[in-house]
Parts: sequence; structure tokens; C-alpha cells
Amino acid sequence: MKFEIIVDVFEEMEKTSKRLELTDHLVRLFKLTSKEIIDKIIYLIQGKIRPDYEGIELGIAEKMILKAISISSGLELSLIERFYRESGDIGVAGEKALENRKQSVLFREDMELEKVYSILEKIASLSGEGSQDLKFKYIANLLNNSTPKESKYILRIVSGKLRLGIADYSILDALALAFTDSKENRVILEHAYNISSDLGFVAKKLALEGLSAVKELKASLFKPIRPMLAERIQNAQEALERTNGICAAEYKLDGERVQIHKSKDKIMLFSRRLENVTLHYPDVIEAIKGLGIDNIILEAEIVAIDQNTGEYLPFQDLMHRRRKYNIEEAMREYPISLNIFDILYYNKECLDMSYKDRRALLESLIRESNNIIRLVPMIITSDAEKIEEYMEQSIADGCEGLMIKNLESSYRAGAREYAWMKLKREYRSELADSLDLVIIGAYHGKGRRTGKYGAFLLAVYDKDNDMFRSISKIGTGFTDEHLDTFYSILESYKLKKKDARVDSKLDADVWFEPKIVIEVIASEITLSPLHTASMDIIRRGSGLALRFPKFTGKIRYDKNAEDATTTDEIIKLYHKQIKSKREA
Ligand code: AMP
Repeated sequence: MKFEIIVDVFEEMEKTSKRLELTDHLVRLFKLTSKEIIDKIIYLIQGKIRPDYEGIELGIAEKMILKAISISSGLELSLIERFYRESGDIGVAGEKALENRKQSVLFREDMELEKVYSILEKIASLSGEGSQDLKFKYIANLLNNSTPKESKYILRIVSGKLRLGIADYSILDALALAFTDSKENRVILEHAYNISSDLGFVAKKLALEGLSAVKELKASLFKPIRPMLAERIQNAQEALERTNGICAAEYKLDGERVQIHKSKDKIMLFSRRLENVTLHYPDVIEAIKGLGIDNIILEAEIVAIDQNTGEYLPFQDLMHRRRKYNIEEAMREYPISLNIFDILYYNKECLDMSYKDRRALLESLIRESNNIIRLVPMIITSDAEKIEEYMEQSIADGCEGLMIKNLESSYRAGAREYAWMKLKREYRSELADSLDLVIIGAYHGKGRRTGKYGAFLLAVYDKDNDMFRSISKIGTGFTDEHLDTFYSILESYKLKKKDARVDSKLDADVWFEPKIVIEVIASEITLSPLHTASMDIIRRGSGLALRFPKFTGKIRYDKNAEDATTTDEIIKLYHKQIKSKREA
């Protein structure tokens, strides 16, 4: 298939941000695609070459890309850098340079999509000595053989900046329309995606084997299952109302969630974001080997513990461990516990089993051992007072509160529903829960904060439109150490102008790619014409904003920007707040 075909569709897609139009373009593209390579098309649309959990990165430095453009176009590097500075987009800079190519290309065959993909694969597979040179050669070679317009997209892909503004579910809609003629079938595809985390794989199965094959798909070892998520609730009463009067209450531990896949000696750990984190936790791997069970997928929370007493320590202690280079030393200084709370596979998929049955299976299989492996503490109760007491006990034991679980519920991969609920301690005038917000911009600091950022602009995620909408400025809760950390980690996400997925009326001194998620508490959600979160929903001309926002000290490295608090959640919280004010 000619690469030009996909590039033409990308060009059309760039002209619109309307979801329906984007979907239509995708449908057209999928219909033009030969079935064998639909998976490759899917990955490329997402700006990658393999599903995220494989952790394959193209890993090309910007400098090298600019140099490749210079070589291929015959123009001075300084000129290319100027094009880049002016446009803020490496693809546009490359396109412009190659349009002005010094030597015209006399003979060029049409670029095939398979060829582009296989070269990208080669680039990703290179590592070690001499790999940078080879990568450079491959890119220059790709540019030499492509038109300026094709180069624009190749460059965006290799720099990790192909942003077509399409969310996963738009791709699912388009697949359903292209291959089954009905958008309704998206739910079937979505389920397959939720249990495999691989859109390319689902698309290829659909294209080659049809919808019934996709319907029969089951979760399998070493393909991560998208995690089940929890809704917030206010109190124990609500927990019982939403579970027909009886529920499980588990400790809500404050650590890092992992999904463990094990078959014989092969063990893999996936983070909540489905990244492969196997190498981060050699001690966990050892402990799991000792479990003596096989063909299993477990979910657990890794929590730092006190060396001497074995008591739980806060999330920050786990993060200290992350920052250490020497893993042996980190393991000694920051020991951890693995707290298992669910089983998703045991010789076959267990997702359809009820919570009650999965927990019973877990209890029959897991031997708690040497303080590392533990089953998450749990009670089953129909008494609100017992829930309150258990909550106090969990907080006294160093946890965040409780996870309430519906006894009859199956494991709902990728869903945030009331089958799982988080219950934290209630604050009277404050928002009952913290929010996870995305840093989209920053303001230069003054006085003591000169040379760092003094305040940040934060956003919530608007899932339906795949946009980040501003909700608050924040300057409270930061220590000097935090500010140093933010200054350095945000460096690689700096942009020349506001990101296309960011919606903000306020200006910032510096804009960032929406990547870094931080935890924030606030006293209240208010209406504000300045912020664009949930604009016009509660009142025309007003969005939602935070009063007295404060950073809790937690950078949520475990969350993608798309996992941040959503506009829907903020609206729900706003309504809850109004209701509790009325009742007070
Ligand atoms: P949140 O990140 O605030 O939405 O809370 C959900 C997270 O709580 C999950 O992703 C887990 O990392 C964590 N968690 C802690 N304890 C449990 C538990 N007993 N069951 C499920 N998740 C838990």
C-alpha cells in the first residue's frame, strides 16, 4: 500500500477537530487498507509502531532529526533550526526544508507503507554503540525517498509528536463502521481491546476473522488487561445503598498498582498505565517465584514498608526507591510489600467470575510469606458502622481509606463504575477527595522562586473530546525541592505554543505537552468564567474552578494525562458538594 494514501488522509484529518469527521476519515482509510496490514496502520495512526505495553520507543533525539533534515535537503542546519523555531513543529520544519531541497530528486519510487513501517521497526530495535549513527542514516534515507508531505508525517512519528487528536474510542468506532457497518458493534471491539490492550491486534482479528472471532476473544497471559477503576463515594451508607446492602470493604493501600503475569519462570509486571515495570522490582519477582503457582494473572498494590515493623509507609517512600539508580541499594533501603487484591486468570480467564468467587480462589491459592506477599485485608459486611470502623482502622494502619467492592460483580476491565468504590475520610468543608490534574502551563517564579516556576496551570481531562480543559492555577503546597523537580521534569515537555489538545482562556508563560499529573486538594469547586473545564454545563459562560487549591506532594507518575480527573467527575463532585451544602 502506498504511504501517500495514509498521508492524504492525515492531511484531511488535520483540517478538523470534529470527532465525527475524524471518524469518517478513519473509516475511509480502513476501507482502503489491505487487511493484512491493518494493525500497522492502527499503530501508525497512534504515532507508534507497537502497542504501548511492549515499551518500544523510537528514541530519536531532536538534534539528530534536524541534522537528518539538513543532510537530506542540502540546507544549512541553522536554517532548519530557524524553521523549527518559527513553526514549533518538526514535521512542518522538515516539509518546508525538503520543498526547498537543493538537489532535486531525479528518480524516486513511490514510498510503500510497509517499507516506512519496517524501517521504523529497525530504528526502534537499534541500541548500544553505533546505534545513533545507524538511526540517523535510516532517517535520512527515509527522507530522501519521500515527498516533503510524506516527510512531514514521518518526522512527526519519529519525534513522537504525531498528534492527530483521535482517541482510542474513535478508532474503535471507525473499525466497527468500516468492518461491520454498525457503530453498535464498537462495544464488542472495546471489550476485546480492554482485555488485550492492543488495538492493532483487535483490528487485525476483526479484519481477517470477523466479528464473531473478536467476540470469543479471551484474556491471555502477557497481554495486560486494562485495569478496573473505582467511582468515589461519600460515606458508608452510600456504599451499602449501591451494593444492595452487603459489600466487601478492603484496605485502600497507598502505593503502585501492578498486574502480575506468570507462566513457569516467565514473570512480567505491568503498571497501571500498562507499562512493563518488571525490572523495577526484582524483589517482587523473587517473591512471586516462591509462590509456586502458575498460569496466573494477579493484581496487587506494591507498598513501601518499615524495615523493622513491616508497617505500611506512604506513597512518597516508594517514589524514593524509584529515584535510586542502584536497585540493590534501593531494595535494601526501601523494602516493599506486595498486597494482592484480585485474580484475573488462573489457567483460564477469570474475569466473568464474581468478586466473591475470585477472592475465594485467591485465598485458596496464595500463601502469605515473609512479610512481602500479603492478601489485602478485607471484611464482608452489611453494617455501615462496621465500615466506618474498618475505615478508621485502615487509616491507622497507614492506608488511604477503603475500597468498597460489590460481591456479585465480575471484573470489568477498563471500566470506572460503582462495582468498585473508593471511600476516603470525609472532610466537612473540603472536597472529600483529592483530584489528579494535568500540568498544562507554568508561570515564572519571583523572589525566592526566581529561576524556577512559581505557579502552574492545571487541567482536567475531557474524555469525550480528548481535550485538556483548564480548571485552576496553583502555587501552594510546593517545597523548594518540589519546584526544582518540576523545573527539570517539565523541561522535556515544553512547547513553543499551546498544545492543540489544551483549552485555556488564561495565558501561561510556558506551555507544556499534557503529560505530568499531580495530586491536588481544594476547599471547593466554584463557577468561574476564567476556566474552561465543563464550560457552559452548569451555567452559561462559566466553567468550573478550584478554590484554595493545594499540591499534596504527590506526582502521579503512575497516571497518564488521560487518566487524570475528568470533566464528568468534576461535574459530579460539584453536584455532590451542592447537595451536601444543602443538607448541612
Ligand atoms: P485512584 O487512583 O485514587 O483512582 O484509586 C484507585 C487505585 O487504588 C487503584 O488503581 C489501586 O492502585 C489502588 N488500590 C489500593 N488498594 C486497592 C484495593 N484494595 N483494590 C483495588 N485498588 C486498590
